[in-house]
Amino acid sequence: MTTQLRIDGLEKRFGGLVALKKVDLAIGRGELVGLIGPNGSGKTTLLNIVGGYYTPSAGSVHFESHRIDGLAPNRLARLGIGRSFQMTKVFRRLTVLENMLVPGFLDWSVTPAEAKAKAMDILYRLKLAPLADQLGGRLSGGQAKLLEFGRIMMLEPRMVLLDEPFGGVHPELKRFMYDTIREWNDSGVTIVLISHDMGSIFGLCRRVVTLSYGDIIADGDPDAVRNDPAVLDAYLGDYHHA
Ligand code: ADP
Ligand code: MG
Repeated sequence: MTTQLRIDGLEKRFGGLVALKKVDLAIGRGELVGLIGPNGSGKTTLLNIVGGYYTPSAGSVHFESHRIDGLAPNRLARLGIGRSFQMTKVFRRLTVLENMLVPGFLDWSVTPAEAKAKAMDILYRLKLAPLADQLGGRLSGGQAKLLEFGRIMMLEPRMVLLDEPFGGVHPELKRFMYDTIREWNDSGVTIVLISHDMGSIFGLCRRVVTLSYGDIIADGDPDAVRNDPAVLDAYLGDYHHA
C-alpha cells in the first residue's frame, strides 16, 4: 500500500502540557482508520496539525509528496485534505446551497453554473436537495453535519479527517452518515475518523489507532485493538461494561 500521510516524531505542547508525544504514524492511500482514546488524549490536536490549524512543536507531516506541517488550512484543502469539525461549522444565515458554494469557489476553473450543478448533485446524494433553499441555521445537528460533509465533497479531497461526526446525531441519520462515510471510502478517499461511537468505529474501520495521553498505545485491526489490555485499561473498559 502506498503511504499517503506520514507523521514523524510529532510533538505538540501547550505551555507545560504535552498534548502529543513523539507520535509516528503512516496511513496508506484508501485506508479508513479509526482514531480513538479518552477525552484529552490528543485526537483533535493530531487532526488539527494534519489539517493545518496547529503548528507542531516538533516533528513533521508529509502528505503525498509534500511536507505539510505549518501550511494553512486553505493550502491543505487545495492539496487534497478535507476536514470536518467536532463543533459543526455551518453558516447559519446562508442557505444550504449557498453554504455549499463557499468552498466551491476555491476552484477558479469552475464557473458559477458548474459549481451550482455540482453542489446540487452532492446535495441529492446527501438527501439535502429538498432543503437547498433553507437557511443553514434551520438544519438539525445531523443535517448540519451532512452539509459539512457536502462542503468537503465540493473540493474532491483525497483524504478526509472527520472529528466525532456522530456526536448528538439522531440514530436514523447516524446510519445514513455511516453509509455515506463507507461509500466515500469505497470511492477511493482515505478517511481518518475520530469517534466515541464504538459500533461505528468497529463496523467501519479495518484499522484502529488508540491514543492515550498523547501516545499511540495500540494500532491494528479492530479485533486486536478491542482485546488489547492497554486499550481496555485506558479506554474501552467502560465501553465493554456499558
Ligand atoms: P481529544 O480530542 O482526544 O479529546 P484534544 O486533542 O482536544 O483531545 O486535547 C489534548 C490535550 O491538549 C488536552 O489536555 C487539551 O486540554 C489540550 N489542548 C488542546 N487544544 C489546546 C489549546 N488550543 N490550548 C491549550 N490546550 C489545548
Ligand atoms: Mg476532540
